[in-house]
Amino acid sequence: MQCIFCKIIKGELLCDKVYEDDHVLAFLDIAPVNLGHILLVVKKHVESIEEVDDLLLGYVMQIVKKLGMAMKKSLKVSGYNIIINNGATAGQVVDHFHCHIIPRYGDDGLKAWPQKQYKGEEAKKMVNAFKSAL
Ligand code: 5GP
Ligand code: ZN
Repeated sequence: MQCIFCKIIKGELLCDKVYEDDHVLAFLDIAPVNLGHILLVVKKHVESIEEVDDLLLGYVMQIVKKLGMAMKKSLKVSGYNIIINNGATAGQVVDHFHCHIIPRYGDDGLKAWPQKQYKGEEAKKMVNAFKSAL
C-alpha cells in the first residue's frame, strides 16, 4: 500500500494545504494536538531524518521557521513545539519524514516529557559513548 503522505503530495488524498513549493508541503494534521497543528513533509519519500539530504534538511528548517513565524502572527500564539518523531519507538506512525509544528496556547494544559536523573558515572559514560559514535 502506498504511503499516505505520498498520496497527499500527489493530490490523491485531500489535505488542508498551508504551504507548498518544489521540495516541501505543509498541511494541517487531521487529528491535531492543538488547533492549527501543522505537518511539514518533504516531497521525496524518505522514512527518517537520516535519509534526508543535508541541504534539504537545512531548507526544511528554514521553512519550519517561516511557518512558525506565520503561526505566531496568525494564531496569536507566543510559542510552538517543533517535533520530529523519528522511528516507531519514538512514536513515528507515518513512515515518511515530517515535522510537527504545534501551536501552544497558554491554557492548553499540555505537559511535555517526564524527567529522569543520572546516577553515578552514567552521564560521563554516555557522553563518552556518544563521542566515540560521532
Ligand atoms: P507521526 O506519529 O508519524 O509523527 O505523526 C503522523 C501524523 O499524521 C499524526 O499526527 C496524524 O494525525 C497525521 N495524519 C495521519 N494520516 C493523515 C491524513 O490522512 N491527513 C492528515 N492531514 N494528517 C494525517
Ligand atoms: Zn511517502
